Amino acid sequence: MSKSFDITVESLTKPATSDAPEVHATASVNNGGKSFFIETFGCQMNAHDSEKVAGVLLARGYRPAASAAQADLMLYNTCSIREKAAQKVFSRLGEWRGEKSKVIGVLGCVAQQEGEDIFERAPWVRLVCGSASYRKLPELLEEVESGGWRVTGLDLDTDETFETEITRRDNPIRAYLTIIEGCDYACSYCVVPHTRGPERSRASDAILSEARRLAEAGYTEIQLLGQTVNSYRDPGPRGMSFVDLLRAVAAVNGIRRVRFTTSHPNDFTREIVQAIDETPELCEHVHLPVQSGSTRLLRAMRRTYTREEYLEKISWIKAARRPISVTSDVIVGFPGETEDEFQETVSLLDAAGYDGVFSFVYSPRPNTTAASMTGAIPEQEKLRRLAYLQEHQRQIQTARNATLVGSTQEVLVDSRHAARGQWSGRTSSNRVVNFVSQQENLLGEYALVRVERSGPNSLVGEHVTGTTGGRHGT
Ligand code: SF4
Repeated sequence: MSKSFDITVESLTKPATSDAPEVHATASVNNGGKSFFIETFGCQMNAHDSEKVAGVLLARGYRPAASAAQADLMLYNTCSIREKAAQKVFSRLGEWRGEKSKVIGVLGCVAQQEGEDIFERAPWVRLVCGSASYRKLPELLEEVESGGWRVTGLDLDTDETFETEITRRDNPIRAYLTIIEGCDYACSYCVVPHTRGPERSRASDAILSEARRLAEAGYTEIQLLGQTVNSYRDPGPRGMSFVDLLRAVAAVNGIRRVRFTTSHPNDFTREIVQAIDETPELCEHVHLPVQSGSTRLLRAMRRTYTREEYLEKISWIKAARRPISVTSDVIVGFPGETEDEFQETVSLLDAAGYDGVFSFVYSPRPNTTAASMTGAIPEQEKLRRLAYLQEHQRQIQTARNATLVGSTQEVLVDSRHAARGQWSGRTSSNRVVNFVSQQENLLGEYALVRVERSGPNSLVGEHVTGTTGGRHGT
């Protein structure tokens, strides 16, 4: 069945004075019942941005189309962290060459990065809007609706977050909630500071009201989002720290699981681990991107921590009372990476005992200092290192998951594989569990599952009791 959103999630990572008024697109706008389709590339941040954009469009009277071909307004919400995603967007745009009957727009990081050049490469595109300008979407849409061409929103100079009460959430099980946008770090390989603008947090009052609204709407799991989520600084009168906010969201009536991503190691504190230990609603999972196991390379990447400092933070997590899983991001083939430095990354996988790693080969991105560094690693060698690292990590995950065979896990059920007769969901530690059950409908429920088998990427088990509540439960 076709979906109104086609979200291509390539990575977990990427990835305000928030008393500022929230976006309210007026529901009274009549645009003649036009339809829209959004295709999203990138991380949860991008997926959630698409949900907010969809909310703005619905409030303007647009309706979701079943496919890109049927839509009057086709939007690509783009990520440019990896070169491949940017290439994919231009390839998609190529499919609409000369299109005049529908409005084509490009949003997100590629829009910000390529700016008006997109109009030169694809003159049939009518709207280009970076994520720091989403607040202006209603007026930009109005311009397009009145026949405007080459409509742009490319301002990076903002201290506002893009928030709206009319977000059209596409995921019925897990609600994403942005608490901070942009980034003030300057990692030498990363485009985010150039595409999403400076760091800006949203006031805790607004975040907590939204969390309460989500709980009332039936959500039991919330994932707090930000490029550097744990750099959160409350601009509101409560002046909450990130840990205060975690505890407060976890205390919202009806919320049973709170996740957060992506954490920057520099801002990762013992208090976060303590909060997870003391608060059952905070999930037993931390995503803490390391990028490299070599301190020399970390310096070249401008990651602001050493291998030893990073591993010390991992030791806090491992010493917790709860079994907190840890996942990470790794880049291989950064300019100048020697074989020994690569092996330092491989040995860090063992030292950290990761439960999952998103690994990528380095690709130079425009407007980044790493793009002009010497010492490029040949593509074939990058791919060899990637395959080696992934196999090594696969073995670590296989061994770690095997320790869970025989245990009983609480799984929030998020999908059903009809052909395999299996339900699927995630544990608090974010592991995927596939299982069989005699029950007819478990979507959105918390099921207790006894783990019978394990693999590198998932667990397989059997439903052992009824449910422990959920979306429609207690
Ligand atoms: S912390 Fe570094 S990698 Fe993460 S978004 Fe900021 S600049 Fe990019």
